[in-house]
Amino acid sequence: MSSHVLVECLDCCYQAPYSPTSSTCPRCGSQWREARYDYETLAKTMRPLLKERPFDLWRYRELLPVQGPNAVISLGEGGTPLIHAANLGMMLGCPHIYIKDERQGPTASFKDRQAALGIAALKEAGITELVLASTGNVAISYSAYAARAGIKLWAFLTSLVPAEKMREVAIYGTQVVKVTASYDQTKQIAAEFARQRNLYLERGSRSIPSVEAMKTIAFEICEQLTSLLGPPPINRTPATSWRAPDWYFQSVSGGLGPHGVSKGFEEMFRMGWIDHLPALANIQAEGCSPMVHAWKQGLEVAEPIRSPRTLIPTLATGDPGRTYTLIRQRMMAGGRGVFESVTDEEAYRTMHILAKMEGISCEPAAAVAFAGLIKMARSGQIKASDVIVVNCTGHTMPIEKMILGEGWARDVALPAEMFKDKPEEGLLAALSRVTAERYPRVAIVDDTPDARRLIRRILQSQGDYTLFEAVNGQEAIELARRELPDLIILDLMMPEIDGFSVLDALKQDPQTAAIPVIVVTAKELTPQEKNRLQGRIHMLMQKGEFMNDELADEVRALLK
Ligand SMILES: [Zn+2]
Repeated sequence: MSSHVLVECLDCCYQAPYSPTSSTCPRCGSQWREARYDYETLAKTMRPLLKERPFDLWRYRELLPVQGPNAVISLGEGGTPLIHAANLGMMLGCPHIYIKDERQGPTASFKDRQAALGIAALKEAGITELVLASTGNVAISYSAYAARAGIKLWAFLTSLVPAEKMREVAIYGTQVVKVTASYDQTKQIAAEFARQRNLYLERGSRSIPSVEAMKTIAFEICEQLTSLLGPPPINRTPATSWRAPDWYFQSVSGGLGPHGVSKGFEEMFRMGWIDHLPALANIQAEGCSPMVHAWKQGLEVAEPIRSPRTLIPTLATGDPGRTYTLIRQRMMAGGRGVFESVTDEEAYRTMHILAKMEGISCEPAAAVAFAGLIKMARSGQIKASDVIVVNCTGHTMPIEKMILGEGWARDVALPAEMFKDKPEEGLLAALSRVTAERYPRVAIVDDTPDARRLIRRILQSQGDYTLFEAVNGQEAIELARRELPDLIILDLMMPEIDGFSVLDALKQDPQTAAIPVIVVTAKELTPQEKNRLQGRIHMLMQKGEFMNDELADEVRALLK
């Protein structure tokens, strides 16, 4: 029992000391309770303690329902990096996008926090056997920590979970129970199994450690944003304020993630550590989006979806139960935000964008959050100045084949017969077929290094081109005459010789007059400027308003 934590019943407000072995309110029997701490004292005493502690989940131990870290169980949970997504930000016109990279947790998902804290609390309470239902990641995380803690785990998995993930669960010595039913039904079966055998059941949003573990994501984000961007500009409490994001994006299945993370933001706000609550963007897969339906209709309770239609099993919670209501209450009370959905196709496309443009290969469930961000940024719901954090989790396997398509590898085959005696020559001859291809030649003209890098990355990740760069108008004209590229991608706003003048020079020279030009600009064009471009360029693209594959498609079409 952790003396510094009380649990308050959400139905009758009765408060009792926290104990992992009691799962209901002693007064009314409700399963819906929340941890409470002595915020007034912690607001003053806790922050100085953080300076001495490593950057992991346990640094916030006074706000967690355990006596302390358990060194035997720990796998280095929490403390994941916050990564600036510069290329994605440039494409969307939102320069402050950060990725909370939960892939770097011990089993590659944010559920590691839940498992680390949950298992630590169970260990403190002397529990040795545990039952849970999962769509994959929770079972993997708990399996790893249960193995270290000496706790027997029963994982009830819906048969929709990919075989690779099921085997990963089994490898840790967990007893996998494969249930051919929906996830909601699988949860019921697991609960009944636990009841009959009198075993501890992990209850997601109704398990105190599970909700509390997710808070640490919020704490870390604010600490990290503060060191990256400095304290907030208008400071309520100058000496102590951390920086909160304007938006927090997360993919949502059952809702435990945003439920817990938003409690973390709320606690920091309450203690005066941050000056505002971020807006929550809760993104669901369209084929299983009961929360989005409820939100858009202004309903307090989400209507369950009986047969989820999504290819992303991790997001197939059809019945969010009370978790939706609790997240909604938090959003109504102070935070802002939305529930939004995206299609599976949008999620897959986004996975590919993230991998190619940011070097981040996430799983489809996490890509749903990023697809939501793209959708909202493009519809104008996000301001350019907004600081955005997106929760990124999981691994890609075994999805690659769904997003890669054909022709993703080049074959170099050694014709064995021809070069039996001289294998080196054979290898070089085979390789020369790859190297001798003539790649279309594209010149990128932009005075901003970030913009040149973005366009270069877009082209090199989506085709084979010989790329040239010019950093100003004069260089661009010289480059065009010297190299005679097949295509020029031209910025308009450049000092001295701007894009309009470059275009004039190109068109006046018979050698360069026929080279097609795509203009990529951040400038809002006047009618006169549009006239100047009329008939002389092939395409006008606005910076911050196109995604990588859209530009790549234009280039490919032009060079065909
Ligand atoms: Zn109660």
